[in-house]
Amino acid sequence: MQFIDTHSHLDTEDFMEDLPEVIARAKAAGVSKIFVPGVDAASVATVKQLCQNYPGYCYAMIGLQPEEVRQDWREVLQMMKAELDASRRGDEHTVPYIAIGECGLDYYWSREYEKEQLLAFEEQVKWSIETQLPLMIHCRKAQNELLHILKAYEKDLPGGVFHCFTGNRQEAEAYLRFEKFVLGVGGVSTFKSSHLREDLPAVVPLDRIVLETDSPYMAPVPYRGKRNESAFVLEVLRTLSKAYGVSDEEMAEQTNANVRRIFKEI
Ligand SMILES: [Zn+2]
Repeated sequence: MQFIDTHSHLDTEDFMEDLPEVIARAKAAGVSKIFVPGVDAASVATVKQLCQNYPGYCYAMIGLQPEEVRQDWREVLQMMKAELDASRRGDEHTVPYIAIGECGLDYYWSREYEKEQLLAFEEQVKWSIETQLPLMIHCRKAQNELLHILKAYEKDLPGGVFHCFTGNRQEAEAYLRFEKFVLGVGGVSTFKSSHLREDLPAVVPLDRIVLETDSPYMAPVPYRGKRNESAFVLEVLRTLSKAYGVSDEEMAEQTNANVRRIFKEI
């Protein structure tokens, strides 16, 4: 049985000491591919390096995460766009990108850069349309604002993932109205207090879910509180198959098919 971790920050310092072992454990657990999001200017180089070191296994995304948006967001996006354009020209110093992200809106801690976040997200939505690469979307405490922007571009967008979904039924339904998008579900679904095990099967069809870890964050039970890693996506898969009343194999096949549909060339 093989399955995909669609969101892991494998390029971060947390994995510097034992990256080969982390990758080996992921492969042994059945993880066939790992998708690695960009978050800021520095991550462009670290994500690229990682994906050059593990071709055919780690796949790169490029984007500015909303919590990383500052006054200099225009320059950061300009640099990222140049890298994205070079990649599309087949420049040998870069890697293929499979998605734009993670990008989005996050007003959880602060609204200090609210306006900048909105502008930076909209710009990256336009990249998704131009490149027809899917969006990897991060959204916290900003669903209405985010969907308002997406709605304006919906018909031209190729689709994408609402990553780290932890909301309620109503929020799931609001996302699912965007027919080309799926929900990324991770470790939170395994937490004792989580309603996701009831809410997801109630309103989210199996063809609208992909698996993720968001490692090193959000480790699932029984690793909660520890560093998360891609191998642990198996715990998410098992939790979801139980919640949906399907076999682990069926959950793996269905989520793999969803990944193929969203990230076309993978
Ligand atoms: Zn992330």
